Amino acid sequence: MAATIIDGKAVAAEVRGRVAEDVKAYADAHDGRVPGLATVLVGDDPASHVYVSNKRKHTEEVGMRSIHRGLDASTSQEELLALVGELNVDEGVDGILVQLPLPDGIDQDAVIAAIDPAKDVDGLTAGSAGLLAQGRPGLVPCTPQGVMELLASAGVRVQGAEAVVVGRSILVGRPMVSLLLNAHATVTVCHSRTRDLAEVCRRADILVAAVGSPRLVEGDWIKPGAAVIDVGMNRTDDALVGDVDFEAAKEVAGAITPVPGGVGPMTIAMLLSNTLRAAAAREGRLVDASDPG
Ligand code: NAP
Repeated sequence: MAATIIDGKAVAAEVRGRVAEDVKAYADAHDGRVPGLATVLVGDDPASHVYVSNKRKHTEEVGMRSIHRGLDASTSQEELLALVGELNVDEGVDGILVQLPLPDGIDQDAVIAAIDPAKDVDGLTAGSAGLLAQGRPGLVPCTPQGVMELLASAGVRVQGAEAVVVGRSILVGRPMVSLLLNAHATVTVCHSRTRDLAEVCRRADILVAAVGSPRLVEGDWIKPGAAVIDVGMNRTDDALVGDVDFEAAKEVAGAITPVPGGVGPMTIAMLLSNTLRAAAAREGRLVDASDPG
């Protein structure tokens, strides 16, 4: 039987709708003040421009304030760090997103480390990663958080499941492992040195592919009935494709995300949700991002 296709666009729209309602409630409780998300874009990378303008558009659509700082490619590391420092102390800014990658010559790690952990809506600082790894409340990277929402929307039981994550990046794979573990899955993480990747994938009740290699995961790597989440976004000559061979996998899986229209739309939705959480937490309320839901 063909798999259920998990509709990321629809789930993302639901999350944004929820955030919009919560923004209204937040404004009512704070004399009309709404949460603010600052985006920082350095240089002229066309893809980054598109990503940032989408983030700004959705920020305003849910009723939050978008604050944008565009810097030219010749910006020095000191200038960028000074800007992050200003945004850190700006009371109107609840979340700071520095669009990656940064131009050559700027130390990305140093810039991320300079972000106030309370405003780290991308969840990329070592502090946020540490809290997540310890299963404590904090801000969680948007893409893996979106994957958890998609699993919940598809009614996938995470507790006790065998989960396999392919990829161990700081942005996706590692936080994905922590989120699944915090939700009580038995988690295996694979990477470029994993022996017999296909065999490990075949064990998965939940398979998350975050590699960046077009259609790496083949249909016969999938356990019948598994939930398959494809984070990959690979531009080939003719299309945008994922890390999973979707056509073959959907004949075996129980549920699967398409590319595009699966994980992609969730990333911005979770960024908005994180900004609201950061604003609420700065008001002294607890943010429980470790809650597996
Ligand atoms: P990354 O930093 O390049 O990490 C890729 C990971 O895949 C690494 O851990 C690497 O292993 C592993 N890997 C590479 N080749 C492999 C192979 N043949 N077998 C097993 N593992 C292999 O990439 P990323 O930032 O995590 O992104 C992964 C994919 O997700 C990309 O296609 C990216 O465009 C996409 N993405 C999508 C969204 C979204 O919103 N949908 C957001 C972020 C990323 P090593 O550690 O051993 O090198």
